[in-house]
Amino acid sequence: MDCNNLGSDPCSILEDQPILHIPVNIHFVMNMDGKGNFSETGDGDGGTYNGYQRAEDIVNLANEQLEENYPVWAINPTPEICDFRIRLALQGVYFHRTNYALISSAPVQFNHNNFWSYINQNLVNASSEVSCFFFNGEIGNSPSGQANGAQATILFDWFNYTGHEKPENLGPNNWYRNSVARTLLHEIFHNNGLWKHPFQTDDCDDTPTLPGCWSYVENGPPPCNDWANISNNLMDYNQWIDEWSLSPCQICRLHNYTTIYLIQDDNEGECAPLNSFFALPSRVCLSYQLNVWMDGSASYNETEHFIEIYQVPSVGSNDVISGTYQSNWFDGKAGRVELGDYLNYNFGCGKVYRVKLAVSNDCYDWDEMIRYVTIDCACDAGGGPNTPVEVEELFASPNPSSSNININYKLNEAQNLTLTIHDVCGGQLVGTLKEQEWTDADPQVYSWNVGALPDGLYFVRAVTNTQVRTAQFSVQH
Ligand SMILES: [Zn+2]
Repeated sequence: MDCNNLGSDPCSILEDQPILHIPVNIHFVMNMDGKGNFSETGDGDGGTYNGYQRAEDIVNLANEQLEENYPVWAINPTPEICDFRIRLALQGVYFHRTNYALISSAPVQFNHNNFWSYINQNLVNASSEVSCFFFNGEIGNSPSGQANGAQATILFDWFNYTGHEKPENLGPNNWYRNSVARTLLHEIFHNNGLWKHPFQTDDCDDTPTLPGCWSYVENGPPPCNDWANISNNLMDYNQWIDEWSLSPCQICRLHNYTTIYLIQDDNEGECAPLNSFFALPSRVCLSYQLNVWMDGSASYNETEHFIEIYQVPSVGSNDVISGTYQSNWFDGKAGRVELGDYLNYNFGCGKVYRVKLAVSNDCYDWDEMIRYVTIDCACDAGGGPNTPVEVEELFASPNPSSSNININYKLNEAQNLTLTIHDVCGGQLVGTLKEQEWTDADPQVYSWNVGALPDGLYFVRAVTNTQVRTAQFSVQH
């Protein structure tokens, strides 16, 4: 299309175009300690609202904003108001832990060269998808977003979330969340052929530059003290999130732009393309976690989902080990679930499982993703990589034992402690020594009789507020 010569009825040409979806990956960049941004399991601030949910919420809000275009302000003659035929399609959500000091010159003031090189090292499918990096900078101290021709950054999402959205308990349609979605669109559209700013042209005759007037200045000098001169173009720095606009030429340019692969939607927006995406640890230590969590929160546009699990001989194999197959269809969106409960499935020790998530909606049969998880039960695990050491010492003596065994433990500070004994294979509970019992920080010993237990390997499991630690022992009569 010749975007500056769409004729007297540009909307009829543009609205004849198929709806195109720009494939987007969202990346959250945390501090080394796993705090300071949304993570795989939480909001980086003690809450359970995680990065997969955040990414899907922001992309959905951006798409809601793309459902209606508004009149363009401050341009004469006023361009036609054509429907957007562009949407975002969430492809994946990724998490990064880094030393922020290496990519910023101050806690929230980013050194642009450093952060673009950091981004370039962490791209996913860079030739066909846009990667959007969410850092944890503050409004006012850092740019709110940036684009570099292929990738985009958003700097203030987590700051706004922890500073306003969460403490003020704002609902999903709050100003902050919408402004993140709008900024995301602005940056992604920079990468897809719109490089307009108030002071910069994108070669569209219907979007003139407007030096200095992206924002209303009350009691300021003309012309920005007059609402009639203020732009609401998405690519100008306007702050009016409810009624931003793009001109016919700009919408046309988005359609013409082909550097980033666009997914065509043949369903007239009735329901958008599907994308199955889920997180699953590649190895689960059952003695440490006792659960196998799968998070499909970032799977996109499904109205129902299907999960399938079976045991395979090795990672990468599709061969079913007989008697281990289980599957089920579920209504609604895939979320974060404990697979054992969700599918009534018993995982066994030292075995490899193939897990598939398929998602479906009224327009598309399905899209699927497969991951593998290895179950380990005999691990003598400490905490995870980001866990402070609360259980400083844990061991059983004598080992092996036939009658009385001493469980020795020491906490870093007084707190509630749960101590349980499990059978190594299967993690089955065989004894509870303490349940949420207030325990001093001095070295302690708990004596317990193992005379009734069959010979074999066992572990003691110590659970504090943030840590699970286990230690093995054997029973020999
Ligand atoms: Zn910009």
